[in-house]
Amino acid sequence: MTNPIAFVNASAVLPDQVLRDAVVICQEGKIVSVSERGSIPADAAIVDLAGRYLTPGFIDIHVHGGSGADFMDGDPRSIRQAAAAHLTRGTTTLFPTTTTGAPAEIQKMLSACQQVADVSTAKPAELEVPHIPGIHLYGPYFADDKVGCHDKGGRRDPAVEEFQHYFETGFVRVATCAAELPGAKAFYQMAAAHDCLVTCGHSNSSWSEMQSAFDAGMRHVDHFWCAMSSVPSLRTRFQVPMQASMTEFVLMNKAMSTEVIADGWHLSPELLEFAYQMKGPERLCLVTDANRALGMPAGEYIFGNQDSGSPIYSDGNVGWSSDRTSLASSIVGMDHMVRHFKNSTTAPVEHVIRMATLTPAERVGIDHEVGSVQAGKRADLLVLDTEFNIQQVYKQGRLVIDSDSTE
Ligand SMILES: [Zn+2]
Repeated sequence: MTNPIAFVNASAVLPDQVLRDAVVICQEGKIVSVSERGSIPADAAIVDLAGRYLTPGFIDIHVHGGSGADFMDGDPRSIRQAAAAHLTRGTTTLFPTTTTGAPAEIQKMLSACQQVADVSTAKPAELEVPHIPGIHLYGPYFADDKVGCHDKGGRRDPAVEEFQHYFETGFVRVATCAAELPGAKAFYQMAAAHDCLVTCGHSNSSWSEMQSAFDAGMRHVDHFWCAMSSVPSLRTRFQVPMQASMTEFVLMNKAMSTEVIADGWHLSPELLEFAYQMKGPERLCLVTDANRALGMPAGEYIFGNQDSGSPIYSDGNVGWSSDRTSLASSIVGMDHMVRHFKNSTTAPVEHVIRMATLTPAERVGIDHEVGSVQAGKRADLLVLDTEFNIQQVYKQGRLVIDSDSTE
């Protein structure tokens, strides 16, 4: 047995409150107790937080890359490079997210992620990465008119012969498909049977198509307001009478969750507030949707696989399509999303942290292991200052990022 770690004088951010003067004891990689001014084992290594926040590590269910690498590059080195960029920004669990691409490219990405996720084969010299419980199968099943910045040539309709191979790996945990595509129902049913968070994205679907998808197990919509249908977008599909869209379906249906890219560039403060008020902290996730330009200088980049992806541009704040007329995902980490959401909405600290931790964990079904500062869960923890800057990152009770020593 290793000696326990005792975080003392912490402002522990629990799902429903901030516990001041908290004592959080961890041992063997897990949290063993959380109390207010509780007793401290004599042999514990003490970490005095002097009132700073202790939060769960962030969980990102929608993320494409970072530090110059995209998960779709499909080799273990790139996967590590991209994942490690998020660890330094507080993400301790992430779901590498596919984009459009050939079946062989998606299979290659999946295998490389499985290899990196298998910690038993990691070498000491390799980059420390967040936990990877599985991937988000996001592309290629997008609607033709909602492909966005992703490579259109790699888009297709879902076919059982293709996607069953991905699901059979047992490593797909989040699965996206546009609801209006032929084959969507079979996709949703298989995804649900494999216990995935089943999501609809890059879609121009109507209320009735969403209802069919819901009946087949769909419960989530990717990046709310981005690459999704609206009443006006459906007018061009169905004329009159005007149809309710994904927007209304998600807002009305209490079982549906969604996510926002709260980087300050995709959505205005009132849209973030609106999403928070309408869905509540248990049905709204923060995601980064970050591409490979995260942590890199402004300039031209490729979204998706380096050889077959589509060109994008980073202005140093956000990604743009190559013609610079529409946004092409974020280039910042979850720490930025948390700070921005806190500073631009009325959501209290515990709700903002919940949306970046417990809520995504619950939606994917890993909340028994991670997502809150609670006895029995993995000691994936962050020390944040009062402005929500990352000071320390602990993975299974081990200090892996220390901003004093790295920056
Ligand atoms: Zn995305």
